Amino acid sequence: MEKTIIIGSGPAGWTAAIYAARASLSPLLIEGAVTQENQEKNRLPMGQLALTTEVENFPGFPPGNLSGYIDSAVPQSRKNMLPPRETEFTGVTGAELVELIRTQAVFFGTRVISDDIIDVDFSRLPYKLIGAAGNIYETQTVIIATGASANYLGLESERRFKNRGVSACAVCDGALPRFRNKPLAVIGGGDAAVEEAEYLTKFTPKVYLIHRRNQLRASKIVAKRAMEHSAIEILWNRIPEEILGNDKEGVTGVLLKSTAGEPVMELGISGLFVAIGHTPNTEFLKGKLALTEKGFIARPVPFRTNTSVPGVFTAGDVADDYYRQAVSAAGTGCMAALDAERYLASLNLS
Ligand SMILES: Cc1cc2nc3c(=O)[nH]c(=O)nc-3n(C[C@H](O)[C@H](O)[C@H](O)COP(=O)(O)OP(=O)(O)OC[C@H]3O[C@@H](n4cnc5c(N)ncnc54)[C@H](O)[C@@H]3O)c2cc1C
Repeated sequence: MEKTIIIGSGPAGWTAAIYAARASLSPLLIEGAVTQENQEKNRLPMGQLALTTEVENFPGFPPGNLSGYIDSAVPQSRKNMLPPRETEFTGVTGAELVELIRTQAVFFGTRVISDDIIDVDFSRLPYKLIGAAGNIYETQTVIIATGASANYLGLESERRFKNRGVSACAVCDGALPRFRNKPLAVIGGGDAAVEEAEYLTKFTPKVYLIHRRNQLRASKIVAKRAMEHSAIEILWNRIPEEILGNDKEGVTGVLLKSTAGEPVMELGISGLFVAIGHTPNTEFLKGKLALTEKGFIARPVPFRTNTSVPGVFTAGDVADDYYRQAVSAAGTGCMAALDAERYLASLNLS
């Protein structure tokens, strides 16, 4: 039986593993599996960050020549999985960053298994986690760090221009040079979409907010702010039909069909931010612990990572529908491991 099992291999899971390993809990981390379903749902091992290019806002990684460091730190067998660096003097990429955190976790003794957890039994100790092929993992504590996947529109052209003008995170990508002082668009009509549009106005004088209805879903006060903002123009009753662009420039425009019988319109933009929500990876937890209305893991104790089940803790985006950043995920990963360690100590189990 394990002392602690961590489910999920993004920044939250690996950071929890570093802390748990250094606390002599000998953690087992279940990193997910590469399957077609996971690929379609953007839910692959190494998490969301591995799907993006440069990460400019993770502390400790200013642009520089990182090749030498990555070469010396990451084992050869893993280095082959990293995309080649486009230029030497750039910030760390998402894939490199998660690989470095993984390397640190493994260095301190984390054991890693590729599997998807499809069911759990938290009714009695030891807790049981059931893998996709039927393997059963028994443990005294669990840290759930399975993340949340950004929802996309599902267009072929959207797939083509991901990371080349199409993004699901304005806070992460809005400051990149490719978007500065260029017309941009945000798709969505909720609070998050309006906040993404407002955030982008720091970098560009023109942001279109494209919404499929004739009224924003955002709360009244937030919607009013968007409607009165001089840099935001709302295009009502429109949905993207195709994202336009080319290999050299990335996104150059979008074709918008009308939900109100108007003709298709073409809009010239250099970036499209999809803000139509996130799906937390919690299907296997339904009925097993408390979830929020939106399906994220509920954290009943403020500023702690406890879930509704004693000895089960959570970290990262799977319990966070608000901040959704690599550094906040890593921070709560640290907290979850400390919470698990103290819980085991309180029961004389560590
Ligand atoms: C396009 C894009 C760009 C981004 N850029 C930035 C950025 O520049 N800076 C920044 O700070 N943040 C950025 N983010 C946000 C950041 O990636 C997330 O906040 C962060 O990855 C969350 O970490 P996490 O560990 O909670 O979850 P995730 O990174 O989502 O990892 C979850 C892990 O759980 C695994 N998993 C899921 N279900 C199961 C299961 N049932 N069994 C086993 N394993 C499972 C998955 O395989 C995955 O490895 C970006 C996000 C996106 C989508």
